[in-house]
Amino acid sequence: MSTSAFNPVISDNPVTPAHTLGAIYYDGLSSRQQAVTLRIAQGQLEVQGDELLRVIPLADVNISAKLGRTPRLLHFKDGGHCEVSNHTDFGVLMQAAGIHEKSLLSTLESNWRYALAATVFTICFVIAAFYWGLPWVAAVAAERVPASVALRIDEHFLDAVDDDLMQPSKLSTKRQQALSKRFDSLRNVQGEVAHKLVYRNSKAIGANAFALPGGTILITDQLVKLAGHDEEILAVLAHELGHVHERHSLRQLLQSSVVGLAMTWYLGDISTLLAAAPTLLLETRYSRNFERRADSYAATMLSANNISPSRLADMLEKLESSHADGDKDMEEQSSSITEFISTHPDTAKRIRALRGKE
Ligand SMILES: [Zn+2]
Repeated sequence: MSTSAFNPVISDNPVTPAHTLGAIYYDGLSSRQQAVTLRIAQGQLEVQGDELLRVIPLADVNISAKLGRTPRLLHFKDGGHCEVSNHTDFGVLMQAAGIHEKSLLSTLESNWRYALAATVFTICFVIAAFYWGLPWVAAVAAERVPASVALRIDEHFLDAVDDDLMQPSKLSTKRQQALSKRFDSLRNVQGEVAHKLVYRNSKAIGANAFALPGGTILITDQLVKLAGHDEEILAVLAHELGHVHERHSLRQLLQSSVVGLAMTWYLGDISTLLAAAPTLLLETRYSRNFERRADSYAATMLSANNISPSRLADMLEKLESSHADGDKDMEEQSSSITEFISTHPDTAKRIRALRGKE
């Protein structure tokens, strides 16, 4: 490339010193430095050196942000770049070319706005995934968990709580068998649901009942004693059977244990889930929707057996007042295991709905 060919260009278009600027050019291929003069005209950047003339559209030039006294860099698409040390002259050149540079602060500010927008979007996405995505995945996953695995979770749970939170039932075997027999003899128009009733005495938990993932329904002596009529106990059991039928416990467990979910789903490894199960199950708080569905399931089942759904409402009232009247220590302990009355604010609503089904 001959330099003489370019000389006329410069002489034909004389520029004022303020509009040109000395810089160092690197071609991006070698470490060779070339002293060049920069000029901006008609949206193009001219880079001229002794053996070089490049004319590059400004749109293809990436200019580094102002950062203290560090040289400004003008990057070109082919890997070459210019280094400018004279900040004042660079500013004059930019201004003369009509380029209004953003300060680093404003660049940071606009980045900050993007970062904030991205963060808000991410939070919304996570919340949406948590409220809608996770329950859906958990429901699908719950269907895939084999019954034998779910039963192991029940056994594991009972092993973990027995002796500590729960003791063997003090109800006579005859009483237990009579209750179980009566419940099992109820006609279930909603289809048979595999389940197993177990009785436990638990001062710590008080009057309560809950369904475990594998279909085990646990009922405390305290609940049996609290009931004024056996139909009230059957009503509670029918409600729990509703939870078993829809695998609420397992779904809740999977939802509460995303890691366990991933392990179960992808790796077929249930050890993580098993280890976390007792704690997660004790902290179970069913959603209002789960409670409504279990109530509705119970109401259908009770009605089909000529038992009024209001029996469940009666029991809900008794459970609520029994837990409210309990001494403070007991309440604190039982607060973590309040399956049946887990949705306090909704209890009145649930009672009204059940009474409406009489
Ligand atoms: Zn429930």
